[in-house]
Amino acid sequence: MLERIRRAMYGRYGGDQLMIGSLVVYMLLAAIARMTQFFPLMILAYAVFVWSMFRIFSRDISRRYQENQLFLKYWNRVPAWFRTKKKSLQDHKIYRYYKCPNCTTRLRVPKGRGKIEITCPICKVPFIRKS
Ligand SMILES: [Zn+2]
Repeated sequence: MLERIRRAMYGRYGGDQLMIGSLVVYMLLAAIARMTQFFPLMILAYAVFVWSMFRIFSRDISRRYQENQLFLKYWNRVPAWFRTKKKSLQDHKIYRYYKCPNCTTRLRVPKGRGKIEITCPICKVPFIRKS
């Protein structure tokens, strides 16, 4: 039996992190669809499932590998995104966050200083905000 599976999988891509991710999405969607009895969501869930199966049995290994790399690139940003969110939640009482109108760099300014001129450290463009 195992030998047969191994032979069937020969030359095929198999599983990766994106496969695990898509199966998790499938299970979530299927569970929500079952709870809400919302039919289109069930179709979407099956589409995700079929797509992840397609990737496992795909023979285009380099293409699948690239998809996974792209997925990992975004996935690895998730913890950093949460860290920044947490940090700004923690110090939003002391600081205010602004975006530079010129280069959109995020700037942190102490709160409660009234109207102040802020100079962007990146592009050196000054702008006025109330802190
Ligand atoms: Zn700037």
